Amino acid sequence: MESKSTVCEICSGSQELLYADVKNQEGWIDCNFSGLSAYQCKYCGLIEFHPQICENLENLYPNDYLDRGNRGRIHQGLLNLAEILEVRRLKRMKEVRILDYGSGGGEWVSRATKGGLDVFGYEPFTKNTTRRIVNDFSDLPDSNEFSLVRLEHVIEHFIDLEPHLQQIRRILAPEGIVQITTPDAESISRKLFGRYWGYLHVPHHTRIFSEKSLTAVMEASGFEKINKTVFPLNLCTAISLENLVRLSLARPVRGHLSIFPGLLIIGLLCESLLRLVVRRTSAMRLQFKRTHSNSLISNE
Ligand SMILES: [Zn+2]
Repeated sequence: MESKSTVCEICSGSQELLYADVKNQEGWIDCNFSGLSAYQCKYCGLIEFHPQICENLENLYPNDYLDRGNRGRIHQGLLNLAEILEVRRLKRMKEVRILDYGSGGGEWVSRATKGGLDVFGYEPFTKNTTRRIVNDFSDLPDSNEFSLVRLEHVIEHFIDLEPHLQQIRRILAPEGIVQITTPDAESISRKLFGRYWGYLHVPHHTRIFSEKSLTAVMEASGFEKINKTVFPLNLCTAISLENLVRLSLARPVRGHLSIFPGLLIIGLLCESLLRLVVRRTSAMRLQFKRTHSNSLISNE
């Protein structure tokens, strides 16, 4: 029997059932699951999935997980462009040491290193470690004061938030910045596509944050918000449209449909329009700095 309400882990507000029995639409997953439901907090807007799948993590992230998300040449070209622009922007900052937390296949670390930046990557699921990419946090350099820790579409994958946030807080320089890009639970596209919204992405995503809930969880871990922007290069609308097209197919297709490049162009135009008109897209980018008045300081 589906529970109609639960308690929000962040604000203790009441959560209500949003979508019962949500499914993985994208066909990336090998393990079976059912009975996973999405709940949303009425107060802070956080969306959580219950029950959380904590076992079979290796099945959730098979070796070709990143390849399954590969959306072809248009997607790769846009990603490359976004990465080049970000590396250029960061190079204007002096003596910046960056940690790419959840660095995936290490492409950004490699590009940023070639661009002359001092970058390390942390990725617990990768098997290909290098001097610059570690899968054990203790392998990061001793003089580990990072001026920027970036989490690009990473925090929505965490099962336990607190150990990650404390780890980040420990290695962040006193004036350092944590930059988090993550799906926006309050976005128009989430409300429009509902259970077919591309960023639900269960069971890989465990929570979808709103600005309010992400700010609250960061404040509780000793950070304060300093900036919010929208993330323009969202594939979410394209994936959501693809999920709707899948409904009409006679049998499931693993990976992307052949029409995906066309949907990608339509989706990116929609995201750009939303950015222009309502200053909101499917994902948000928030920046935080460490607070100095937090009680956690005394424990360090
Ligand atoms: Zn809440």
